[in-house]
Amino acid sequence: MTKIEDIIWTISEKCEGRCKHCELWKKKIDYNDELSLDMIENVISNNMLKDLIQVHITGGEPFISPKYVPLIEILLKYHPMVRIHSPISGMYPELHYSISKYISKKLIIIY
Ligand code: SF4
Repeated sequence: MTKIEDIIWTISEKCEGRCKHCELWKKKIDYNDELSLDMIENVISNNMLKDLIQVHITGGEPFISPKYVPLIEILLKYHPMVRIHSPISGMYPELHYSISKYISKKLIIIY
């Protein structure tokens, strides 16, 4: 059976950036079209992800999703040693600061 060790998760396509090389910010995003936290927990806790080593949480701007920190908590609940990577725009310093406790534990790598 295939081992799933690494996943890329687009938590939300929402972004208010205006980068010229990207048109994602033009999309109208409805959070109600995204996975609920219950669905996210069902995926993360599934036995198919038992070998998970690393998760890349991206977007859009992943930090503006209200599900970003809950997703990290769910990941750490089921996979306490998982490495989490996220791109950072720098546009939301308070939101970025809100995850600093995870960064200081070396659980998240941002770039
Ligand atoms: S920050 Fe990222 S998702 Fe947002 S417009 Fe720029 S490249 Fe696209």
